[in-house]
Amino acid sequence: MKNADSYAEMLQAVQEFHDRHEFEKYVGEDMVYRVALMAEELGEISACVSKGRSIDQLSEECADLLILLLGSAIAAKFDLNEAFWRKMEKLSGRSSRMIKGRIRVSDFGESHG
Ligand SMILES: [Mg+2]
Repeated sequence: MKNADSYAEMLQAVQEFHDRHEFEKYVGEDMVYRVALMAEELGEISACVSKGRSIDQLSEECADLLILLLGSAIAAKFDLNEAFWRKMEKLSGRSSRMIKGRIRVSDFGESHG
């Protein structure tokens, strides 16, 4: 039985999807191509928000992007789980400011990233 909260099982499902469609063989793991696909999904997320679509539609488009992100970790051979927690730790040390009425958490010029 699948653990819906498990990064490892999500990654395995995406790996199986790549294997089934032979992404590695047919250039589906090329990062330039993958960036274009991620931009496409980001546009679909944007359209959900700007066109007032349902939360169901928004969640599906966010899932599309998450699947592509997991697939990009496979393609570029990095540990996204480890990167996520490393970045969250970095973010936890940052401060927030109100910028034009919206909260922003950033390093505010201390370093890039
Ligand atoms: Mg989509």
